[in-house]
Amino acid sequence: MSSAIVVGSGPNGLAAAARLARAGLDVTVLEASDTIGGGTRSSEMIVPGLVHDHCSAVHPLAAGSPFLAGLNLESDGLTWLQPRVDCAHPLDDGSAGVIYRSIELTAEGLESDGRRWRRVFEPMTLRFDALFADASQPILRVPRHPVTLARFGAGAMLPATTLARAWRTKEAKALWAGVAAHAMSRLDRPMTSAVGLMMIVAGHAKGWVVAEGGSGAIATALAADIERHGGRIETGVRVNSVDDLPPSDVLMLDVSPSIAADILGDRLPDRLARSYRRFRHGPGAFKVDFAIEDGVPWTAPTARQAGTVHLGGSLEEVVANEEAVHRGAMPERPFVLVGQQYLADPTRSVGNIHPLWTYAHVPHAYTGDATETITAQIERFAPGFRERIIGTAVRSTTEMSTYNPNYVGGDIIGGASTLTQLLFRPRFAIDPYFTGIPGTYLCSASTPPGAGAHGMCGANAAARALARLSA
Ligand SMILES: Cc1cc2nc3c(=O)[nH]c(=O)nc-3n(C[C@H](O)[C@H](O)[C@H](O)COP(=O)(O)OP(=O)(O)OC[C@H]3O[C@@H](n4cnc5c(N)ncnc54)[C@H](O)[C@@H]3O)c2cc1C
Repeated sequence: MSSAIVVGSGPNGLAAAARLARAGLDVTVLEASDTIGGGTRSSEMIVPGLVHDHCSAVHPLAAGSPFLAGLNLESDGLTWLQPRVDCAHPLDDGSAGVIYRSIELTAEGLESDGRRWRRVFEPMTLRFDALFADASQPILRVPRHPVTLARFGAGAMLPATTLARAWRTKEAKALWAGVAAHAMSRLDRPMTSAVGLMMIVAGHAKGWVVAEGGSGAIATALAADIERHGGRIETGVRVNSVDDLPPSDVLMLDVSPSIAADILGDRLPDRLARSYRRFRHGPGAFKVDFAIEDGVPWTAPTARQAGTVHLGGSLEEVVANEEAVHRGAMPERPFVLVGQQYLADPTRSVGNIHPLWTYAHVPHAYTGDATETITAQIERFAPGFRERIIGTAVRSTTEMSTYNPNYVGGDIIGGASTLTQLLFRPRFAIDPYFTGIPGTYLCSASTPPGAGAHGMCGANAAARALARLSA
């Protein structure tokens, strides 16, 4: 029986382990933290019984993941829940751009921009499964659905500010800017439409769903699948060097490229060591979880029903503040993401006390405290919010990288969204997962297709490993 060791139990490490265990390998997952899940963990933080997502919260990409769909994680307790409104982007005058799962409803709400919204997103939404099957693979391969992928690629290549010209109203423009800002990059750079396009299309196809009971349910279900297929998971084991590991046929590293270079040391070929060390990380995230009484008093009524609320004002404001963060300057009003998962999943609340998930885009390795900045940004669109706060739990960029060393400088998306790294991560190669050491692969979000709790990086890396084993 062949054996595999997986270092790290994020969604990609667990997906790799599940694929390898299902193929009959003897799999051991080693996780540094005391709990599994990496970016898919949740727990009480502030008030007993109140469940907060530590990292990932909203899951159109996990719900759309071809690999996770094939595992039938629902039978291991994973239930996706759909908020009434997927995403709201409120503006200062009380209006809001709104995305519903239904493209018809979204278009209706966007009024004069509705037809253009449909024209841009509907063809890709209708072909989402085919699109994601190709887009979740490395770029240097022959696509199965070239026309669908080419259509996506034509839009994805554009700077987000260029695609924004498709819309006339301030609501639609701001809405687009907020979703595009998930790339955590300058929005006037080529390819910065890719992340926003994928998030919107995945949302219309699968919903901006949340996991019942917290995102930790994704990791729990994956772990159950691994264990049912004979795998083991050990927590509290930090791997510092490959020399500390027993021999195995396959070694999967669910870590950032620089950590992989540390673990693999001299065994890593020089050329790969150089590219792993050169890999660039992007801006940081500063996270504040709140316990709040009676929900957020948003001025825009649709925001009161939205699983996700984007706070950044107009298109121009979002673009300027993302540029500042990219340059290393902390804006006065940074882009803030707010998660109200409890609206779809009331099990996370205790009576009228609710968990509120927020983070701000801040410069890489930002050392300041953004708690007040985030609070003020929410208060701007929800006057009276402050009075409803019962408690907070704060994670700065430094604490972010202590919590999970993959979040270098607070970068939560596994690497800067530069043109090169969006297309080829962690380096230009036919097999971007292979480390050049026989049997050893990188499988974290720093490999294709990048960030998100979809597990596709791990599943793809494991597929390469299995193909080489049987060659
Ligand atoms: C605040 C925040 C919000 C997010 N929001 C969303 C969202 O809403 N939707 C979404 O899809 N994605 C979201 N993400 C991104 C998503 O969580 C990540 O892209 C995803 O978790 C990456 O998975 P991974 O398996 O590559 O690595 P990770 O999840 O980072 O897991 C890596 C694991 O490896 C372990 N590890 C690292 N080094 C070692 C070592 N030397 N030895 C042993 N173990 C080690 C770590 O402890 C960790 O458990 C968010 C992330 C953050 C932080």
